[in-house]
Amino acid sequence: MRRAGVLFLFISLLFNGCLPFAIIFQNWSGALGTVSNGILSDSIILNESPEIRFDRKVNRHAGTPQLVEMLKSASLEMDKQFGVKLTVGDMSAPLGGKISGHKSHRTGLDGDIAFFIIDTGKKVINGNLNDKFDRFGVSLNKNGKVMMFDYEKNWALVETLINDTRWRVQWIFVSSGVKSAMLKWALINKKDIDTVYRASYILHQPKGADPHMDHFHVRIYCPQNKTQNGCTQLPPIWPWEKEAEPPPVKKDFTDAELIKMATEGLE
Ligand SMILES: [Zn+2]
Repeated sequence: MRRAGVLFLFISLLFNGCLPFAIIFQNWSGALGTVSNGILSDSIILNESPEIRFDRKVNRHAGTPQLVEMLKSASLEMDKQFGVKLTVGDMSAPLGGKISGHKSHRTGLDGDIAFFIIDTGKKVINGNLNDKFDRFGVSLNKNGKVMMFDYEKNWALVETLINDTRWRVQWIFVSSGVKSAMLKWALINKKDIDTVYRASYILHQPKGADPHMDHFHVRIYCPQNKTQNGCTQLPPIWPWEKEAEPPPVKKDFTDAELIKMATEGLE
């Protein structure tokens, strides 16, 4: 039965770009496959709000319910604590799959967030995802203006992201320079030591990719919801997150076969 489905999928792909998704989505929900080789069904679209702004208008603000809830909650918290907006960059396309400029962001588990920044007079500047900050927390933008990394707000954001069990953060990709400056700031300012410990794992400069000197890239674990068990969890599972490992996925064919068919050539 499933083999026939695969054959139909293959034929459909030749004649109709959208139909394969409909077939796959009869059997799966949420993130399907891996963050760099997968798709997304039943996505939730994040909208701009009094607490959220987008850095650009693109059709890339879809995610799993958990990712969208995380971003909304973080934005409410930042508004409550500091009266500032969260600037959100690319998430996933509404159906997931490949989007230009990213190796991952394919299954609704990844979202880019701008740093909170201030000028030399401590005035808040709208976040963007382009200005690069060095290990001293300083950036010189293209107009020659000096901007400072706002440690207090950025740490509060990280605390909010990694301390809530409604979603579980696996990675916050950021440059090694920004990471060490943040951890040092948190220790000097006597922030919660458990959070600093977890952040020392989760904040990470990815290997073989953009170092992320200009934004946070947050990735959450596969949701544990049983209807979403097409999500392939990549390691690591942090010591405090052992329960994040989803149950084994039952299927007739490999994720690679399925996903290759569904995503090849799509943008
Ligand atoms: Zn990213």
